[in-house]
Amino acid sequence: ISFEELKLSRQFLNAIDDLGYTAPTPIQKKAIPIALAGHDLLGIAQTGTGKTAAFVLPILMKLKYAQGDHVRALILAPTRELVMQIEGNARELARYTDLRIVSLYGGLGPKQQIEAVEKGVDIIVSTPQRFLDIYLKGIIHTKLIKTMVLDEADKMMDMGFMPQIKNVLEVVPRKRQNMLFSATMHDKVILLTEDFLEFPEKIEI
Ligand code: AMP
Repeated sequence: ISFEELKLSRQFLNAIDDLGYTAPTPIQKKAIPIALAGHDLLGIAQTGTGKTAAFVLPILMKLKYAQGDHVRALILAPTRELVMQIEGNARELARYTDLRIVSLYGGLGPKQQIEAVEKGVDIIVSTPQRFLDIYLKGIIHTKLIKTMVLDEADKMMDMGFMPQIKNVLEVVPRKRQNMLFSATMHDKVILLTEDFLEFPEKIEI
C-alpha cells in the first residue's frame, strides 16, 4: 500500500516526496487509516519506525489549514529533544499548508514560547510540565483541542510525569481523539492507557 492509497491530500503527498519517503513504514500503513477514521489508537512501537509521521499526518489531514487562534491538537512527549524532533518532522510534513506548529519545552525562559502561542497556533508539541506552566499563566485556550497524542508514554511514566499528564487531562475537552505510543507496555503505561484512551484500536510493530 502506497501513501496515495492511504488517501492523504496532495499537499502532504508532495511534502512526503520532498522528504524522500517512497513508501509508508509498517506502522504508518496500520496507524494512518485507523487515525483518519477517527478512532483512538494504541501504538506499540519503538522510535525509528516512522511513528511520528504516523500520528502527525492524520492530525494534519484533520486540521487542513490554519483556523482561529487557539490550539486544536496537542502532542506531549517526554523530553525537549523529542519535542524538537516531532516539531521538525511536523513542520516538514505541513510545509505546503499554513498550519501553525509551536513547540514548548523547558531549559529556557518561556517568553518566546508564550509569544508564539499568542500569535495563534493550530498544533502544540510540548513536554507535560512546560505545557502546564504556560497554561497556568492563562496563555493557552484548550477548549478547541480535539486530538491529543502521548508519545513515548513509557518514558513519560518512567520520568514520573503521570501527575502532570493527569493535570493536563483535566484541562482539555473530554471528547477528543487520542493516540498513545509506547515502546513497552508496563503496568503504569497500562493504567495510563485506561485513563487516556477510549475503545482504542491496538497496533503492534
Ligand atoms: P520516527 O520513528 O518517527 O522518529 O522516524 C524515524 C526516521 O524515519 C525519521 O528520520 C523520519 O524522517 C524517517 N521516516 C519516517 N517515515 C518514513 C518513510 N515512510 N520512509 C522513509 N523514512 C521515513
